[in-house]
Formats: sequence, structure tokens, C-alpha cells
Amino acid sequence: MTASSEISASEAATLLGTAEAVTVLCHVNPDADALGSALALGIALRRADIGVQVSFADPAVPSESLRSLPGQDLLVPPTEVDPAPGLLVVVDCGSSGRLGDLRDRVDTAKQTLVIDHHASNTYFGSANLVDPFAESTTVLVADVLAAWGVELDRDLAYCLYAGLVTDTSSFRRARPQTHELASRLIATGLNPVEVVRPLMDTHPFAWLQLLSRVLGSAVLERSAAGGRGLAYAVVPSADIGGLRSEETESIIDLVATASEAEVAAVLKQTSELGWTVSLRAKSEVDVAAAATALGGGGHRLAAGYSAVGTAEEVVAALLAVLG
Ligand code: MN
Repeated sequence: MTASSEISASEAATLLGTAEAVTVLCHVNPDADALGSALALGIALRRADIGVQVSFADPAVPSESLRSLPGQDLLVPPTEVDPAPGLLVVVDCGSSGRLGDLRDRVDTAKQTLVIDHHASNTYFGSANLVDPFAESTTVLVADVLAAWGVELDRDLAYCLYAGLVTDTSSFRRARPQTHELASRLIATGLNPVEVVRPLMDTHPFAWLQLLSRVLGSAVLERSAAGGRGLAYAVVPSADIGGLRSEETESIIDLVATASEAEVAAVLKQTSELGWTVSLRAKSEVDVAAAATALGGGGHRLAAGYSAVGTAEEVVAALLAVLG
């Protein structure tokens, strides 16, 4: 690895365009932005006749809601990932740890290009295209493809739009130029409703019953976060049953609508004393700082971490950090 450096989208395009073979990795349990970014790069590289493999660490199967993304034939299981890639591209990861069991490829690769939009990014690549003002990693990938002269088609647009619509919470947080990017993507013939339905608007009926239990026992702590308020809900593992992560992960967006609370949290039980905690803030509280203090990370208004203890202990630790 050479010394770490910040590069532009056109420098990233040159790296890709002159590579002999490329390994593209995204974070464990990829979301639409991570997988959409990785597959869009994979599709463009394949079209340029550059050997490419796309992967992510176990569990190696994308969640059901992401199976409509084009280019999935580019995916290889983690066991088949080049042990020493010439050019490794890592997308949507703030740190190499987000690669899970594939994190060692950052050390074995000749060059690592990091493309990411997390403010907490550690610039772990030999080349880093990192912009915390980009609403999604797919925004940065779109810049790279434009600099490379890649013409957008429906498949590329599908992957890019998937990351864009989810990471902007359906364009609630998007700069003017990002709306313009969406316009260019739709102009390829993409039907936004078709992209969004499997990603965000589809749940089994059992989700409604899970919601009624979990939201029915949600708690409002008005004095939390310096009096700004915390609303939280607990999802016991027994209630999750056969439901997908898509169901449990959408609960935070509902809890975050409580007008009395600046901060929202959802505790999802993963084992008897194991939890993953999702945090959201409306505008004032930096939940990335809170999550980082508790061993996790994320964005200023959306972050998360893992915790060990009883639900009461996990809530107490969170309240202490929020102040
Ligand atoms: Mn992202």
C-alpha cells in the first residue's frame, strides 16, 4: 500500500479505467447504497472488459429486498474473493472493519480505492474519494462514472437510484444537484415506483403485528438528551421470529416520528444479552458521537452500535451518553 491520499472523481475513474482486474467490496449486511454502489461499478467495469468480482463478507446473500438490483451475477461468495487484489475498491465503508472477514484484503491489495460518504471515514485506502456531503455513496459512484465517460443505462441507473432514494430517505435530504442526478437516472427509462416498492414499501403481514407489539410498548423519556427527549422501542428476539431485517430495521423510522423526542432509538435483541441499537436524531443531537462513544458509528443524524446487557442496562448506558 502507498501512503493514503485524497483523490478526485476523475482520478478514481483513471484508476478504474487502467486496472487489469478489480475486486469491489461493500460492507457486511449491505444496504441498497452499498450494494447499489458495488454493482454499478461492477456493471461499468464489465462493460469496459475489465475483469471484476463483487462481494461482501458472510452472510453472503443479499437481503430479499435487494434482489431486484441488476448485476447480481457479478457477485462471488467471500471464499472466492481474490486473496491479493491488484485494485481493491471498497464502497460505503467508513472503516476497514465494516468489511467483516474480508477486511484483510485492504492489507493484501496492491492498491485500495475507498469510495464513501461517512463523516467518520478513516481514509484507510491508498486512494480515498470521500465526501461526507454526498447523500449516498452512489452519488460519488455516479460522479466517477461520469468522469469515466460511462453512459448511463437502465441497469446502472437502477443501482444508483436504489442507493440514492434510500440514503436520502426518499429525497427528504438531497441537494439540488442530487435531484438533478435523480432526474438523469429516471430519464434512462427507470420507473422509480418499481425500484422503491421492493426496497422500502413491501413487508409481510406479520410485520403489522410485530409493529403493534413493539410500538405499543415504546417509551418516551422527555428529560433525555438535555431535555430534548428520547423515544425508544425494544424488539425482543422472540418477536422477530422469521421476519427479515427489512422489517425490524424499518421500525426506527416510525419511532423517530414522535414529535416530543429529538432522539429515537430501537434496541433489537440478537441474543439473550446481545443487542444492536439504531439511533436517529431530528437535527440537533449528534447521534454519531453517541454511537461512537458506545463502540459504533454512523452519520450525525443516523447511527448505530452493538451492546451487551439487559434492555434496561443498554437504555441506561444510552441515556448516560446522551446526557
Ligand atoms: Mn450509504
